Amino acid sequence: MKGLLSLLFPPKCPICGALAESADGFCPVCEDGLPKITGPRCSICAAPMGGEFAMPNCADCRGGVPYEKCFVPFSYRDGVRRAILNMKFYSRPAAFRCFARAIADEMGGFRPDCITYVPQSRKAGRERGYNHARLIACELGRLLDVPVRRVLRRIEGGEDQVGLSRSRRLTNARRLYHPAAKKRLSGTWLVVDDVITTGATMKWCCTLLRRMGCGSVYGAAVARAGLGYSGTDINKTPFPSVETAFTEGLLTPR
Ligand SMILES: [Zn+2]
Ligand SMILES: [Zn+2]
Repeated sequence: MKGLLSLLFPPKCPICGALAESADGFCPVCEDGLPKITGPRCSICAAPMGGEFAMPNCADCRGGVPYEKCFVPFSYRDGVRRAILNMKFYSRPAAFRCFARAIADEMGGFRPDCITYVPQSRKAGRERGYNHARLIACELGRLLDVPVRRVLRRIEGGEDQVGLSRSRRLTNARRLYHPAAKKRLSGTWLVVDDVITTGATMKWCCTLLRRMGCGSVYGAAVARAGLGYSGTDINKTPFPSVETAFTEGLLTPR
């Protein structure tokens, strides 16, 4: 049945639309060009470590962070940026399988007790038709055979993180994200998001999980912004119209 389906609907690369070898893979050209994070990076949060040679961790993590570690395979640019924008703004979520597989590879055998994801507002859910962070989390859960649970909620409205200063982002994240219910949690949890920019959202969500009782909390995201690309466009809505995106080469053909 699976073979028949792939004959009828051959898997396509979620970056360029060319034929891909499998439903959780990119085409060979895009696979080769993936912006893997290279060079020295923080062993906890994967931030680039320009100049802080002898240190294993970035200044942020040395100051104390609520997660044990963040697994982030890519930097937010090129094909990965394009695939993420396609998920967020153009109803093309196909890359979630590839992204979940890349995160699983990055985790190198690590397996949490439970997985959750950064929630979105109900309005965003209605507009998008899905929560892309949840899609990635569920696929990751399937790959690792780990349950996925919704334990956080995002308030309706509120100010988007985009354009806010680093310090205001944390204050804003505290306003936006809350426990979904008064539940006690336990064990080791993993929080999944799409992109880590300043890390404010991830930090606050992990802090909430710790307060809810989790023994240890880890983060995972597809990409890290700030490595050759500003990443400030990630929360910008409305993003260019489908027509503009197409002429700018941002849109993946269906
Ligand atoms: Zn491709
Ligand atoms: Zn760090």
